[in-house]
Amino acid sequence: MTRRDIPLAVPNIGAAEEASVLAAVRSGWVSTVGPAVDEFELGIARVSGVEKAAAVAAGTMGLHVALVALGVGRGDLVIGPSYTFAATANAVSHAGATPYFLDIDPRSWTLDPEALTDLLENRTERDADGVLRLAADGRRIGAVMPVYTNGHPADMDTIVPLCRRFGLPVVADAAAAIGSLYKGEPIGRLADLTVYSFNGNKTITTGGGGAVVGPEPALVARVKHLASTARVGSGYDHDEVGFNYRMTNLEAALGNAQLARLDEFVAAKQRIRRAYETAFAGLQGISPFPSSGNVSRADWFFGIVVDPSTGWNVPDLVAALNERGIGVRTFWKPMHLQPAFRDAPRDALPVTEVLWPKVLPLPCSTDLGDGDVARVIETVRGLLETHA
Ligand SMILES: *Cc1c(COP(=O)(O)O)cnc(C)c1O
Repeated sequence: MTRRDIPLAVPNIGAAEEASVLAAVRSGWVSTVGPAVDEFELGIARVSGVEKAAAVAAGTMGLHVALVALGVGRGDLVIGPSYTFAATANAVSHAGATPYFLDIDPRSWTLDPEALTDLLENRTERDADGVLRLAADGRRIGAVMPVYTNGHPADMDTIVPLCRRFGLPVVADAAAAIGSLYKGEPIGRLADLTVYSFNGNKTITTGGGGAVVGPEPALVARVKHLASTARVGSGYDHDEVGFNYRMTNLEAALGNAQLARLDEFVAAKQRIRRAYETAFAGLQGISPFPSSGNVSRADWFFGIVVDPSTGWNVPDLVAALNERGIGVRTFWKPMHLQPAFRDAPRDALPVTEVLWPKVLPLPCSTDLGDGDVARVIETVRGLLETHA
């Protein structure tokens, strides 16, 4: 291999990030309290359209503590899609609950509102105390957790009123959706709590990290409290079982420099996405990732859906691209096919079953130049033609 490999999605770290982290190190504020954390929480709240954010050490931790803050606990069910990253279902389990898997809408790859309506209207019942339970086995329904797949918000204008009608809280797994807009607005007010991840492959990174936002500052303050050992005052008083889930000041320092570049990163993602969409439009058996008219700036990962009629399956195409220096890999394997969640309750998942083996994300690092994008396009097209 003479040419360098093109990775799938790597951090874009420059001089501003270096300076910000170095300043934090030199300030002595290296642990879980410090001015960079305060600044990061304000910045995340601002781009989310809310007053308050709670920074945490990972998206998974944010999801876990959000569920706990909304009263989800042992024996509960949390309704969400099977088509997601393992963190969504793991967080439900960490809270002592069990995921209930529904299908996705093929137009957005997010939680199907019709499947949710059918489940809530036809297969739940209220007990004598007014608690909503699954009719089949009496388990309490604790929350609904839509996932903003690849940064694409779910159909929240349908999902949230439906959940309100049934008295269910909504936690959005918006791990990859920082900066996304829903109907032209920032996404922080849609769900009761919305959770981001700043893992290394996300649009902005803190190394590892996450944040929880919501329209109600008191609820976000409760998330922060739970994530900070439920400590009251500056002594050793703790008013409930807490977690040590806080982001460090060093991570937040990196995050502040990254957040200042959010618009640059979103524009880069849009540029790369457009190039792929133009290049692969009209190719037999190839379709783009979905994008509904309701969302914008929702372009974390994108690529192509490869129909078997092309003569290719995704694992073979991944291997061929890897040999040619293009660092792609297969995408999410649904949760109902994972050993840990095989026995979780679920509905039929026809869209998920057909879709997941055909999804191929293409390289989308925000520093990917037009030459690299052209090389990815040329290589993919060449392989598709070989089999045709
Ligand atoms: C990245 C991601 C997460 C996990 O976040 P971590 O920060 O890695 O814990 C959760 N859910 C989805 C959908 C993700 O893409």
